[in-house]
Amino acid sequence: MPTYEYQACDPQNACPHCRERFEVRQSMSEEPLTACPECGRPVQRAISLCTVATTQSTKSMLSDRNLKEKGFTKLVNEGGGKFRKTV
Ligand SMILES: [Zn+2]
Repeated sequence: MPTYEYQACDPQNACPHCRERFEVRQSMSEEPLTACPECGRPVQRAISLCTVATTQSTKSMLSDRNLKEKGFTKLVNEGGGKFRKTV
């Protein structure tokens, strides 16, 4: 079952449970929570920032050319504890 993160709409007037993000296990078919199970105040589903961060720009930032330009060295693990310098 997937886990969803919720947080109080108004964290300043929330109980300790929903002031911070809390996780709720729900099936996909279940309605999203609208109220905190502890205090009954309105909560909203928190959008995971992890999904947003995985963008194309991260990939190109880690390209060989860009690493070289920035003065980084990329090491490739050849196995057996040996590393090969590729940039
Ligand atoms: Zn609460």
